Amino acid sequence: MATIVKKEHRCPECGKIFQVSMHATVLPGEHPELRKSILSETFFSFTCPNCGYQADMVYPVLYHDREAGYMIYLSAHPEPALSQKVPQELSDVRKRVVRNQKELKEKILIFDAELDDTAIEIVKLAVLDIIAKKYGDENARAFFQSANEETVDFAVFYTNYTDPVIQSAGVSLYRQAQELLEKAQWQEKNRFLKVDQTLARSLISQAK
Ligand SMILES: [Zn+2]
Repeated sequence: MATIVKKEHRCPECGKIFQVSMHATVLPGEHPELRKSILSETFFSFTCPNCGYQADMVYPVLYHDREAGYMIYLSAHPEPALSQKVPQELSDVRKRVVRNQKELKEKILIFDAELDDTAIEIVKLAVLDIIAKKYGDENARAFFQSANEETVDFAVFYTNYTDPVIQSAGVSLYRQAQELLEKAQWQEKNRFLKVDQTLARSLISQAK
């Protein structure tokens, strides 16, 4: 079952109003094509049928992979979801909030690779730290891309560059991050969590 909501949308270019179908929930087990379109960053693409104008139209969506046991809620304003009570039967499901489609894509790639996103955020901090020291770019952004037996790879967006550069970290860094999480006594909680660099920093200081 795909929950589709129809909404009116005004084209910012020509001003015409159209009915647009939006997915309130995405169940990738039933609709693998939706997962694909999120990963290719076309899920939110809007093309005006009148003038051909193309833009991303990002709206709140809940991505729920039942088989893998995780939920990701995308919203530019996730605060209500963060404080929301979650039913007990969802306690085994990992629940995350993200703010944009790049973060949504990243979480899907991490969970589908059967990795721990909290450990990945710690590795990412180390990668960004090296970039800041080596290239003086303090505001570069990094997103998990893939992992293999030797490396964890990130797509790094340097300030003022639109195309990402792949930066790899050794898998040993990931193992160290997992050990650090044990030291910090990090545990999954039965609510929606924002697992990002802020959380990673606070867990690093807790583990000390
Ligand atoms: Zn238009």
